[in-house]
Amino acid sequence: MFKKIRDFFYRLVDCIFPKFCIECKKEGEFLCEECFNKIRKFKNPEFKNIDSGLFKMIIIPCPFHKNPVLRKGLHAMKYKFYKEICGILAMLIKEAINGICELKAAERLIIVPMPLHKKRIKFRGFNQAEELAKHTGLPVFNLLIRIKQTKSQATLTKTQRMQNIKDAFCINPKIPPDTVSKNTTIILLDDVCTTFSTIRSAALALQKNGFRKIIACAAAYAELHQNNRNK
Ligand SMILES: [Zn+2]
Repeated sequence: MFKKIRDFFYRLVDCIFPKFCIECKKEGEFLCEECFNKIRKFKNPEFKNIDSGLFKMIIIPCPFHKNPVLRKGLHAMKYKFYKEICGILAMLIKEAINGICELKAAERLIIVPMPLHKKRIKFRGFNQAEELAKHTGLPVFNLLIRIKQTKSQATLTKTQRMQNIKDAFCINPKIPPDTVSKNTTIILLDDVCTTFSTIRSAALALQKNGFRKIIACAAAYAELHQNNRNK
């Protein structure tokens, strides 16, 4: 019954506020299939300079600055609160994960979305990393919480970002200790990675609690703004 009422409500909202593709402006979806396929054309950046001691693997399907459609999609998701785009962008992550044999063979594999501070969730209404995670089809655990409300990383240098985000995460006390075995392969998921300082800080919190099989994953990789490099 609730589902029927909800679906009716969504259809009503669609009639009052029709959706337009963020790229070609065609009516129907926030990102039409044709424009979504433009994102796919830009593939896998390489991460040679990332200290990989902490991560077993880094999975990021798309570079960001060179990919104008993806940039618009991420912006609409994060700043215009288009939750629906999470489902579309999650397809990129799902395809990337499914293409890795080692992950198919993993005995137990879960996704841990990067947590937002509760004040940020209140403001946006949802955690975009959690929404992306839900659409991958893998089990999702909110194993981490964010205990420090940090400044936006956008204008900071690499060093400032590391300092800003230090000790910002801890294990979610609401999850009973033995729910997730220490042997589980954890895909730590964020929407965008730039210097990897946020995802590293979260991975350190997992490592401190005995988790060793950690994979960093994001929909996109963004290069640090030129003004903030090498400072
Ligand atoms: Zn389009």
